[in-house]
Amino acid sequence: MGICWSLLKPHRSHEISISSPPRKPLKPHEDRSILGKEYVDLKETYHIGKELGRGQFGVTYLCTEKANGLNYACKSIPKKKLVTIKEMDDMRREIMLLQHLTGQPNIVEFKGAYEDETRVHLVMELCSGGELFDRIIKRGSYSEKEAAKIGRQIVNVVHACHFMGVMHRDLKPENFLMVSQDEDAPLKATDFGLSVFIEEGKSYSEIVGSPYYVAPEVLRRRYGKEIDVWSAGVILYILLSGVPPFWGENERSIFKAILEGSLDLHSPPWSSISPSAKDLISKMLTRNPKKRITADKALEHPWLKEDGEASESPMDSAVLIRMKQFRAMNKLKKLAMKVIAENLESTEEIQGLKQMFNNMDTDGSGSITYEELKAGLSKLGSRLVDSEIRQLLEAADVDKNGTIDYIEFITATMHRHKLDKEENLRKAFQFFDKDNSGLITRDELKNAMTQYGMGDEATIDEVLDDVDTDKDGTINYEEFVAMMRKGTVETREHVKIQLD
Ligand code: ADP
Repeated sequence: MGICWSLLKPHRSHEISISSPPRKPLKPHEDRSILGKEYVDLKETYHIGKELGRGQFGVTYLCTEKANGLNYACKSIPKKKLVTIKEMDDMRREIMLLQHLTGQPNIVEFKGAYEDETRVHLVMELCSGGELFDRIIKRGSYSEKEAAKIGRQIVNVVHACHFMGVMHRDLKPENFLMVSQDEDAPLKATDFGLSVFIEEGKSYSEIVGSPYYVAPEVLRRRYGKEIDVWSAGVILYILLSGVPPFWGENERSIFKAILEGSLDLHSPPWSSISPSAKDLISKMLTRNPKKRITADKALEHPWLKEDGEASESPMDSAVLIRMKQFRAMNKLKKLAMKVIAENLESTEEIQGLKQMFNNMDTDGSGSITYEELKAGLSKLGSRLVDSEIRQLLEAADVDKNGTIDYIEFITATMHRHKLDKEENLRKAFQFFDKDNSGLITRDELKNAMTQYGMGDEATIDEVLDDVDTDKDGTINYEEFVAMMRKGTVETREHVKIQLD
């Protein structure tokens, strides 16, 4: 089957041309601040190196943190390219999504967003192995084992996004970068420019994506998160056969094939591909989104699990890791986290968690009940058993009223990098050290904890035993910081050690 590969990469434009919205330019006086925070000079912290690549809006550079020599990628977007309100909002949303999703397997680690007079800079993990797309072109097709390995990582991304309440909407090989030049370097999803926070029950209609990968229901303008599984199925099909499942000479004929064409799993090379691979692909490329396999189930499919390399379980989701870590904290730390969360209300990542909270709080009561947590986690793809959900709820429910309110949810799920910030820790310490003496005394500790129904002697003893390392009966700032920063590394191994 001859195929024009250039058609596979028709343009980098984010929206399929037939749906491009009219550009509504900003009036000259309108605010040009994107992040709404102080402008910074990136060059003070980083050395900016060579250009790594160019996209629709910006240029990505190699950058090195001066303090420690660590390398990152910095995507710099000239603000003058963000002309319309929609373009500015899209930029803000992309940053929010990166902050929300960072920490998940196969998703690029996000370091931070900065802004100066003329540009917005996104600093993230350096992926120096190039695009999956270029590897596919070079290789043609992959062995089943290699394809399964890549496929697993792609489905992992779909699963992580759905679990975190995000629909990706633009999965394609050029949006995955390899971490290094190594043949089996892990893949990372880097581009969330078209992704959205899923509003439960909403049906989406905007036509977005890239021609070969777009799901049929997108073209029919009524879709939900199942579209990502379809796109991942298209990538898998290409990995195994070297050609896209639905193709044509132009967009119109590609779309016709997607809507009506039959899925060819018979012509060469399919006859020599395992029935198990074909079974998974046909389940992912099922036209009816309701009957299509979910990302969660796809990860359990025997073909993706091949070689005993079991899929990442949903328990490994960053949110669950965070909730579990929270469960393992002493009560002083839980309360201090709550104080920090209360001071964080409007930051970018909190917005993402807020969306997730709203998604779970289905009756809009402002608190998540056991039933809502259970339904919310399972809707997002988790396979937790009742007792685990109960434990998570109890851990997050700091005030013990039986439900998780908004602040409790943020407290239990916010990213621990919030603890790197000195000012956050200071504020939390001051909350306890009422007389500003520089020490939290037993009485101060007891008073604060009593407000939250945790002031019993046994708890106070337990906290002091854990935190008061110099055993002088009080907690000084150094002891407090040590406690707050202890065990905050978000790795699966770490959680295993802490919880098993
Ligand atoms: P687009 O606008 O098409 O989404 P991007 O601006 O996201 O493109 O990326 C353009 C190019 O920049 C990529 O193809 C890649 O070469 C490079 N790039 C982007 N992110 C990274 C990264 N984290 N590490 C290394 N290179 C990157």
